[in-house]
Amino acid sequence: MVGATIVADPTTVHREAELAWSGVTGRISYLGPVRGPARPGDLVGAGRLVLPGLVNAHTHAGMSLLRGYSNEEPLHRWLERVRAFEVRMTRADIRAGLRLSLVEMIRSGTVAFADMYLWDSGLLADVHDAGLRVLAATAVFGYDAVAYPAASPQTGAQVLDGTPALAAEFAGDELVQVTFGPHAPYTCGAQLMADVAGRAARHDLAVHIHLSETARELAESRERHGCSPIELAAWTGLLAGPVHIAHAVHPDDDDTARLAARGVTVAHCPVSNLKLGAGIAPVPQYLTRGVTVGLGTDSMASNNTADLFEEIKTAALVARGVAQDPTAVGAADALRMATQGGARAFGGRLSGRLAVGEPADLVLLDVTAAHATPMPDPVAHLAYGARGADVTDVVVAGRPLLVQGRLTTLDEDGIRDEANQRVARILGQAD
Ligand SMILES: [Zn+2]
Repeated sequence: MVGATIVADPTTVHREAELAWSGVTGRISYLGPVRGPARPGDLVGAGRLVLPGLVNAHTHAGMSLLRGYSNEEPLHRWLERVRAFEVRMTRADIRAGLRLSLVEMIRSGTVAFADMYLWDSGLLADVHDAGLRVLAATAVFGYDAVAYPAASPQTGAQVLDGTPALAAEFAGDELVQVTFGPHAPYTCGAQLMADVAGRAARHDLAVHIHLSETARELAESRERHGCSPIELAAWTGLLAGPVHIAHAVHPDDDDTARLAARGVTVAHCPVSNLKLGAGIAPVPQYLTRGVTVGLGTDSMASNNTADLFEEIKTAALVARGVAQDPTAVGAADALRMATQGGARAFGGRLSGRLAVGEPADLVLLDVTAAHATPMPDPVAHLAYGARGADVTDVVVAGRPLLVQGRLTTLDEDGIRDEANQRVARILGQAD
């Protein structure tokens, strides 16, 4: 691809540049000045801004059939409402929701997502076939809890037992990684968390968990365990290995130091946290004190889109509003979270930047529209002006998944129709 403005990372912008990659290795082979005219088959660079593929650090992609289902309730009530819908979802419903999310993520420039939900071989194969990268946490809500009764009879204990085999099945897969997924301390309890810590260490697997999402969760944890959810995770051994935590909106006094010292990655989900009235994570404090922060959309039931450009803008603006300081989180900080920050959760497989030797995971944006004109600062445009709908092309591991607005691996119309039909059936079932 020649002639584009390329944001290799938030502090490195190449203008009128060329980017090349190998379709065999899936890695970038050249990034620099234009070496010659475009060749047939090259992506069109003129009028395009190229950036590293975005990483969604926290999703429940299989939940997208719940988009817009519960809109005005606090987390504990929202969980009850969502639960009433979820128990009716068959595996085919969850698969339809997952595939709808895959369409939306590709269309809005996401190349990788860290997810927690029902996962099995077939669902992981769906992600592989679509061409996206996934860090898939197999969700557990307690030893005896059957999380998705209409979709799978498995109890939490059975899911925990089966997770290492599922991870081993995809061990050689470039796109798929499997982790343990204890949902949260308030559903799983300390004993299960300690058990997961041991299993993760034995099988060399990471853990993805929700921690300290609401003030109520923090208060209940103090009452029940005498400490914060993050301290409880440390006490159970869960922070000893690679762990990725969603939210961390309400850290206790020493929690930030704990997260930094243990190399924990945090998925900041500003839109979900604002929509559920959960609070605002102290992101400037995290960044200043060396905590790795990525950006996540959380589920479609608490967002309602998978467009990471909304998270980038919101993350920057809300931090400034809270701090009453326009430098609290800069455009480069916000873009870095959505790329390099989230990539860290993938355990070194991704860097979230464009450079020779790195995976060819990239996104092209149309910057010819009125809302992108003029564009004196490409990084500021990405943070404050760009939208998912501006994405024209997406490449993952050297494979084009979106070419000039056309999906190459998924039947979008069919997926949308199926999603609508399935939602109508679920909502038609008696409460
Ligand atoms: Zn979540």
